[in-house]
Amino acid sequence: MVETEALFTAVLDATADAVMVTDRAGFIRRVNQAFGKLTGFDPALLVGRDARELFRDINDDEFCDELWNEGAPRHYPSVRSKHADGRAQVHALCMTSIRDDAGEASQFLAVILSESFQTDAVTGESRRVGHDALTGLPDRSILADRVGQNILNAKRANKSIALLVMGLDRFTLINDALGYAAGDQMLKEVADRLAKVIRVSDTAARLDSDKFAVMTPISAIDDSVIVAEKVLNAIKKPFHLKGEEVFVTFSIGISIYPTDGEDFDDLLKDSLSAMQYAKQDGGSQYRFFASDMNAKAKNRLALEKRMRAALANGEFVLFYQPKVEPKSNRVRGAEALIRWRDPVHGMISPGEFIPVAEETGLIVDIGTWVMRAACFQVKAWQDAGYAPIKMSVNVSSMQFKAKDLLDKVKLALADSKLDAKWLELEITESMLMNDVEGAIARMQAVRDLGCGLSIDDFGTGYSSLSYLGRFPITTLKIDRAFVKDVQDNPNTAEIARAIIGLSRGLNLEVVAEGAELQEHIDFLKDNGCDSIQGFFYSKPLEAHVFESKLTKV
Ligand code: C2E
Ligand code: MG
Ligand code: MG
Repeated sequence: MVETEALFTAVLDATADAVMVTDRAGFIRRVNQAFGKLTGFDPALLVGRDARELFRDINDDEFCDELWNEGAPRHYPSVRSKHADGRAQVHALCMTSIRDDAGEASQFLAVILSESFQTDAVTGESRRVGHDALTGLPDRSILADRVGQNILNAKRANKSIALLVMGLDRFTLINDALGYAAGDQMLKEVADRLAKVIRVSDTAARLDSDKFAVMTPISAIDDSVIVAEKVLNAIKKPFHLKGEEVFVTFSIGISIYPTDGEDFDDLLKDSLSAMQYAKQDGGSQYRFFASDMNAKAKNRLALEKRMRAALANGEFVLFYQPKVEPKSNRVRGAEALIRWRDPVHGMISPGEFIPVAEETGLIVDIGTWVMRAACFQVKAWQDAGYAPIKMSVNVSSMQFKAKDLLDKVKLALADSKLDAKWLELEITESMLMNDVEGAIARMQAVRDLGCGLSIDDFGTGYSSLSYLGRFPITTLKIDRAFVKDVQDNPNTAEIARAIIGLSRGLNLEVVAEGAELQEHIDFLKDNGCDSIQGFFYSKPLEAHVFESKLTKV
């Protein structure tokens, strides 16, 4: 009978997959022979080291931390890890947390899936089957397999996939001018850059000589535009070949499952033909297979450009909508609502540009401007002798998660000399549920500054009531949907009443939005709603008009 430990070691070492066991914090406890072979490190020297070092700098930071999260086993199709010789390699990784007797995830098992090796008859070199020998990227057969797998997942989850096929523009010129060795070196670097810009759920592959592909699961068409733009930018940077700076560009064709094709072959055909259009149009750009997508992508790009200019040119303005206390009919607060006064297109409402601003990240700059403008405005009204009111500002998800949110709020308050208690941030439930603990910490930090914190559109998200008591908020805003027909729908009325009751119980201020009719006001007033915002009292107004609604102290 072989000792358990010896047996375990024998089994590990006989396994072709590279296996690593770490503790809770990610420090390596043991690795098998295959792991040593794959990474080029001596297995004995790896023990005790932080396993993250193998993944750091060549993957997203967030990804490295995510690896050691507990939960169900996770499979990542293309992870980059460092080889002892300094190069990065791409492979599939499976992470599993192992629970101890107490039910705690005390160890982690990382398995890097083995791929069979094949020996080249001519050179005698061995290479992984399914991987391109030059770049180490998966080849067409693996890509086909992963696309097939992702189509199955997408079908179940009712999601989409984008297949981007990219060809280098004028690659033969480089081969002719600098020789094949330089050409090969460039292809390797292109592969490295590609592997670096994609997410862990994506697969990058080399199709043939100068053609590459990226498969990415998407939730909106714009996600594929973001990937295409990242790839174009990554390739734009100069390559250093034979002491020269060389510039190349990509033409990218994009097809979408399920709209353009049902299987890999269809999608590949579509992407290739879209890529040809991109090339014919001069290269260095992307094209969708479906022509209406191109128009949409173009509009989106144009909008993004105009938005940047609008911020610089001061085309954004804030409107203010009163929040009225029904008992006294006095204005107690205002919500700042952004408008875009475009010199050509006229007034544009936030519903049209905020979503694009969020996707492109421009929302952070726009949000900073909104916060400052609103603080200065409410302070100006105080200084002009009006009874102080509370100013609410909408904060988008990206803004709320940004590391410098607090600094920006502090700076806006300091520069405008506004007391923090007159500023309230409006956030939505959906921003809080991904990472509840992190969100609570951020909310608390905002509250520690002395600002109010309100949950906007309450009741439309999917937050669990059990969390509500833990959120350090000051205000709930009942969504318009629950106010709209309180007068003739007993169910809606009951929900509105319940939200008001809940706020009372949790000692929160409750504001109703979207009150348009006298019946709405009567209902909300009778049920003890603190403030009401809606067209019944006023639409959002320009600052000088809003001012006339304020009372002097
Ligand atoms: P929200 O924060 O829920 O704002 C309330 C929206 O309801 C506003 O639309 C307001 O005009 C509208 N509204 C108010 N009373 C009534 C009413 O009685 N009836 C009806 N039918 N509508 C009413 P708006 O100004 O178009 O803003 C839409 C959304 O855009 C806002 O929803 C908010 O999510 C976003 N938003 C607006 N300004 C900003 C901003 O500065 N930053 C960010 N991140 N988002 C903003
Ligand atoms: Mg709001
Ligand atoms: Mg709202």
